[in-house]
Amino acid sequence: MKAVRFHEHGGADVLKYEDAPDPHLRSGDVIVRVRACALNHLDLWNRRGVVRLPLPHISGADVAGEIAESSDKDMPVGRRVLLQPGLSCGRCDACLEGHDNMCLKYDVLGSQGDGGYAELVRVPVQNLVPIPDAIGFVEAAAFPLTFLTAWHMLLTRARLRAGEDVLVLGAGSGVGQAAIQIAALHGARVFATAGTDEKLAKARQIGAHEVVNHHTQDVPAEIKRFTNNRGVDVVIEHVGEATWERSLKCMARGARLVTCGATTGYRANIDLRFLFSRQYSLMGSYMGAKVELLRASQFFFSGQLKPVVDRAFPLAEAAAAQDYLERGQQFGKVVLTV
Ligand SMILES: [Zn+2]
Repeated sequence: MKAVRFHEHGGADVLKYEDAPDPHLRSGDVIVRVRACALNHLDLWNRRGVVRLPLPHISGADVAGEIAESSDKDMPVGRRVLLQPGLSCGRCDACLEGHDNMCLKYDVLGSQGDGGYAELVRVPVQNLVPIPDAIGFVEAAAFPLTFLTAWHMLLTRARLRAGEDVLVLGAGSGVGQAAIQIAALHGARVFATAGTDEKLAKARQIGAHEVVNHHTQDVPAEIKRFTNNRGVDVVIEHVGEATWERSLKCMARGARLVTCGATTGYRANIDLRFLFSRQYSLMGSYMGAKVELLRASQFFFSGQLKPVVDRAFPLAEAAAAQDYLERGQQFGKVVLTV
């Protein structure tokens, strides 16, 4: 098969479009013919060598395609599917309680094993989610990881309730566009930040009620103005060091902050006096459980959640696609077509 691999860690130039061995069918697995694979920041971390990986490596967590080889009669060859990006053992207490993203063996497709920057990918049969004919492969590939992540952050971690105020940072990011839609769908009032007026207009189109330009406006001051000085109930963080202190200043008493990333840096300060006296909850979140993706998918298939695709590149141009993602000019997902 053709695949995009890297044989050493480094910049986008280490990505090579080349011949790679076809994956072999193993018991309990299927082979999927990849039609589209969305990019994630995780792909950039993996390429740079933030975590040790077996090399050569094929990245790609967000895949849609057709089943190419299968020994499972319920999942026949030709079935159109998207893939659950989370891999887990399926038999530990965490998995059996439906918290598979807390499994000790938890892995993300395209991290320790090969992913979807290829014509073929092997996955466990339980990671297949059939998609309706009306859903295109590019749109389907743009859905799983970010909507699963945002769903878990808002509903499972923050326990969002209708009528609450939510601040979503980085409206144009994959998690940002998903969080705006999921929060609005659940009856929240959504505030979103972005760095350009064009992105702010798009944030409104997908459900943000109020928007703030984080380059030209004072985010905490604007949030206080929108909320009559109260602050928001939930903050959706993934930016990290650059926004952390401002995010805390946007919180109402008793509010929850959930973070799933630190793209601008890992170090954060907190004044413990505010943590206890204002009764904040600070929570980490990583991916989500399989059952959460199945629930979120129902809203995707019915048209109530719509992954935003900024741009598609052919698989052979994966290096250009990763460069584009790294520059951060996009609104929504960057997708490879195969
Ligand atoms: Zn497990």
